[in-house]
Amino acid sequence: MHHTPLDILRNVFGYPGFRGQQQAIVEHMAEGGDALVLMPTGGGKSLCYQIPALLRQGTGIVVSPLIALMQDQVDALCAAGVAAAYLNSSLDAQSQREVERQFMAGELDLLYVAPERLLTSRFLGLIEQTEVALFAIDEAHCVSQWGHDFRPEYRGLTVLHERFPQVPRIALTATADPRTREEIVERLALHDARQFVSSFDRPNIRYRVMLKHNPRTQLMQFIDGHRGAAGIVYALSRKKVDETAAWLAEAGIEALPYHAGLDAATRARNQQRFLREDGVVMVATVAFGMGIDKPDVRFVAHLDLPRSMEGYYQETGRAGRDGLPAEAWMIYGLADVVTMSQMIAQSESADERKRIERQKLESLLAYAEATRCRRELLLGAFGEDYHGPCGRCDNCMEPPRTWDATVPAQKALSAVYRSGQRFGAGHVIDILRGVDNERMGQLGHEQLSTFGIGAEIDEKGWRSVFRQLLAAGLLATDAEGYGTLRLTSASRDVLLGKQVVHLREDAKPVRSARRRRDS
Ligand code: ADP
Ligand code: ZN
Repeated sequence: MHHTPLDILRNVFGYPGFRGQQQAIVEHMAEGGDALVLMPTGGGKSLCYQIPALLRQGTGIVVSPLIALMQDQVDALCAAGVAAAYLNSSLDAQSQREVERQFMAGELDLLYVAPERLLTSRFLGLIEQTEVALFAIDEAHCVSQWGHDFRPEYRGLTVLHERFPQVPRIALTATADPRTREEIVERLALHDARQFVSSFDRPNIRYRVMLKHNPRTQLMQFIDGHRGAAGIVYALSRKKVDETAAWLAEAGIEALPYHAGLDAATRARNQQRFLREDGVVMVATVAFGMGIDKPDVRFVAHLDLPRSMEGYYQETGRAGRDGLPAEAWMIYGLADVVTMSQMIAQSESADERKRIERQKLESLLAYAEATRCRRELLLGAFGEDYHGPCGRCDNCMEPPRTWDATVPAQKALSAVYRSGQRFGAGHVIDILRGVDNERMGQLGHEQLSTFGIGAEIDEKGWRSVFRQLLAAGLLATDAEGYGTLRLTSASRDVLLGKQVVHLREDAKPVRSARRRRDS
């Protein structure tokens, strides 16, 4: 018989010792407490409920939305001699009956169940007649609308607490920003649960964000620094994935495409090659990566902005699982900001969802434009109080030069305001630079007091100013997706001269070819 958590860890799972907070969590659960566990992917969440389930009387019921991963987990447990099974739509009727029989007979240590199955009145009735060691709610962020992976079925899981208040519950997730965390607590009624929050820092990953000017050349230079290494290149569209993969392959790099538009056989083949061969570069949409556990991925490159900080963290987190140095690299520009805003505005989502998506984009932009330690911002997004410099991000290694852009920022904001907050960056920049074209005449904008007041900065410089103002939340795009600019509540202080604006040097004024008044 096993008696202590450590005995089980060693004898059943074959590991010498616990990692991080595992032991404290296991002991807390074994004693019948409730817990909310925030731990990064690969941190070892599974043992936090598997061991208590073995220590306690009855079956541990694990709710998981990932049918594909259930079977792997159960196979591994069975191989270790644990009585484990799963119930989901992939089982035929006869296998289902057999699993239910084992469950009712008290023969199972662990039972993995898809949420929609667990919540049937039939299954809840079965639970009533058996002894349950604990409920583990894996991927608990699925209950949150703010999270990236909302699943309506998860909302129903409150019934567990209502019907079986005596059974301890443990909710686990690798998505830990404070808003998601609050929503999990609220939705799953975990107010009294103890929270175990691990650090999300991935110290071996270096972070770098660059301005996009010539994506292919930039990507090639980056990959050249990682020749022969396995890596993932993320792009937004399927078309771009195909084109980039083909182009890299032509340049002699072992690159393969992966996206939902490829047939299942090709996807499976490319994934297998990435996992088994050395030095394959997977060019992919976000469809790639979930459940991929390849320890020696040396880099993750983003050619386009990811959807959110969580997305960025998950995607870059696929690098360096083996603990050896790895690099997260991203390029972006003003066009990306506008594209992303438009994608959000034009999506089919409800207004509330769009508002959430916009906020997420904003924090991502703040990260991209940051002049301070990126790790600090990244971990800050997860509510972690990390203080840089980390020494392992571009901003720490080569501190960016900034300049006082208060006056140009005021000019930009007034030009947006004076033209009625109805135009995109292109036209407002033309106003600032005093470009006297047909449109300007039709709109009568050459009469504006802001016409030509920014001739000292060239177009490229202004684009950089607008990009950074957007990222800093001093300007916003319209909610309808036309790419028009408007002021925000934060713009006022800048216009009133109460706030100085420091921008990255890529926007520093250079003598423009079109000086309006040359004496
Ligand atoms: P998560 O669910 O948090 O992503 P897993 O539970 O799948 O992580 O664990 C990730 C990997 O770490 C697995 O291969 C697991 O066997 C291993 N692992 C977990 N805990 C320990 C430990 N205490 N000692 C050694 N390996 C561990
Ligand atoms: Zn840093």
